Amino acid sequence: MIDTESRFKALRDKLKQTDHRLTPQRAALLRLLAASEGHPSASDLYDQIKAQFPTTSPATVYKTLHLLKEMGEVLELGFSDDDNRYDGHNPAPHPHLICVRCHKIIDPPIRVAESLVQEVTDRSGYKIIGHRFDIYGVCPACQGRA
Ligand SMILES: [Zn+2]
Ligand SMILES: [Zn+2]
Repeated sequence: MIDTESRFKALRDKLKQTDHRLTPQRAALLRLLAASEGHPSASDLYDQIKAQFPTTSPATVYKTLHLLKEMGEVLELGFSDDDNRYDGHNPAPHPHLICVRCHKIIDPPIRVAESLVQEVTDRSGYKIIGHRFDIYGVCPACQGRA
């Protein structure tokens, strides 16, 4: 597991290498994405950036997210009945644990899918390029509120 500070530096370097300006707003966004606490939506990210930089436009957040997604530096999780959510901490496909009450999303505390994906590769002959594995439940905090 890499720490948030190293992930922030990696994201910042990616933008620099591709000649993108690192405005203070963008740096703040990269910090939030490096942590990706709870796997925020674009509007969660915008609300947090706006709290620090009131003049930020939503386009700043959406453009940067799009750019990082194109670079493969942010994993996007789409939902049919909820906003897309983002993981900039670990952009490789990995399983997610989703609370159906508070909609918090975390990475499961154990490695779940790696051997499964390897076995599928071995048995199917497919070259696997991604996967989606969501586990639904009620988080401990929400169970306490029941
Ligand atoms: Zn919950
Ligand atoms: Zn994740």
